[in-house]
Amino acid sequence: MEMNRTQTDVYDAIVIGARCAGSPTAMLLAQRGYRVLLLEKATFPSEVPRGHMIQASGVALLKEWGLFERVLASNCPPISRFVFDLGSLALAGMPQGATLIAPRHGVLDTILADAAVASGAELREGFLVQEMQMDGNRVIGIRGNGPDGVQVTERANIVIGADGLYSLVARAVQAPTYDVRPSLTCAYFTYYSNLPVEETAIYVRDKRVIVAFPTNDVNTCIGLQFPREELAAFRADIAGNFLHIVGLVPELAARVRNAKQTERFLGVTDIPNFFRKPSGPGWALVGDAGYHKDPYTGQGISDAFFSAKLLAEAIDAGFSRRQPLEEALAAYEQQRNAQALPSYEFNYQLATFEPPSREMQHLFAALARNQVETNNFFGAISGTIPIPEFFAPANLQRITSQHDVPVPASE
Ligand SMILES: Cc1cc2nc3c(=O)[nH]c(=O)nc-3n(C[C@H](O)[C@H](O)[C@H](O)COP(=O)(O)OP(=O)(O)OC[C@H]3O[C@@H](n4cnc5c(N)ncnc54)[C@H](O)[C@@H]3O)c2cc1C
Repeated sequence: MEMNRTQTDVYDAIVIGARCAGSPTAMLLAQRGYRVLLLEKATFPSEVPRGHMIQASGVALLKEWGLFERVLASNCPPISRFVFDLGSLALAGMPQGATLIAPRHGVLDTILADAAVASGAELREGFLVQEMQMDGNRVIGIRGNGPDGVQVTERANIVIGADGLYSLVARAVQAPTYDVRPSLTCAYFTYYSNLPVEETAIYVRDKRVIVAFPTNDVNTCIGLQFPREELAAFRADIAGNFLHIVGLVPELAARVRNAKQTERFLGVTDIPNFFRKPSGPGWALVGDAGYHKDPYTGQGISDAFFSAKLLAEAIDAGFSRRQPLEEALAAYEQQRNAQALPSYEFNYQLATFEPPSREMQHLFAALARNQVETNNFFGAISGTIPIPEFFAPANLQRITSQHDVPVPASE
């Protein structure tokens, strides 16, 4: 059955996907007075098998949107220390005042969707968008069905794909990709109780990365990344191989052996690296739909928040005629890329698992003796200091030339 709608039912924006990218986009547009329809095939609370450590830059946006306290209230501890352990040396610190937090997606995404609704967006859960409605090459709406199976079409001035890596919107409009890099890694993770940790730790051991961070309800997430060529061998004995790799960090492995695993092993085996052109006639992309990168240092949620903010500003500029919409959306792409490209490159480089260059070894040796600059290094990872600023040759030269200065006691 097709439901007929009249022209008055044209939304300002339809957002497909109500997680880290879609809900903030819908929320910010609704707060500006736009009529927004937010469509999500899942029903909340709903988990996704992906990491969820939010960097300081993402936490800053949660605070700006008044949502950080709600995340804290979900029994999720703030994290004020970052560890980067290369085996030969370990760096630990955090820029002053910076906080990370790692709520499960089932918690975070529900808070974000609720915030979109509280701001005035109309949310339909359990709604599967099946195709775009087109007028020539312009997207003018969607067709899909809710839980009752009834086919509906909806119209909007812009349809926003916040629908993740395999974006239907991107496929329908054949959004061009660029800066595409090979997929390098795959990831497995699980959760433990009775394994309290207070920090976010990244342990690098040869061609493996082991991460540990606290999440909701006194559970700890332990995750691994390794080269995707090793996937078949890993899958032959997931539990055994998982524990074997964790065993590369003996002190962590000992604690894992005494802890209780509270969930099954979750694997992510398709981790591509690409950018998509994020807008065209009647459509836009945000979050993973618009750009996907290796999650080595965990940037995706913060990037999704940031691009949601940029996109909502661009659409508002266009709809309110402060700027032609096409121009505003082109600026959105430029600003997204300016922020994302350095981190994309940095994570891709780390995900090659190539040993650190001599320059990086020199840097790490200098950082190990300099707490202030170590904190700045974590600022670059967690988004409080731009990566190009920290890794600028003159800055690295300044840090490494201080190699022999006495180490400050602490900040
Ligand atoms: C292994 C791994 C670990 C990671 N770890 C971290 C980390 O620690 N920290 C971090 O910041 N980032 C991490 N990331 C990245 C991060 O999880 C993502 O970048 C982020 O969650 C993307 O959010 P999104 O809203 O763009 O997309 P998604 O979370 O994919 O949401 C898309 C939504 O669209 C909906 N949808 C799709 N198609 C349709 C349709 N046709 N109709 C209706 N609804 C639809 C889906 O149901 C889904 O809810 C990790 C990624 C991976 C792969």
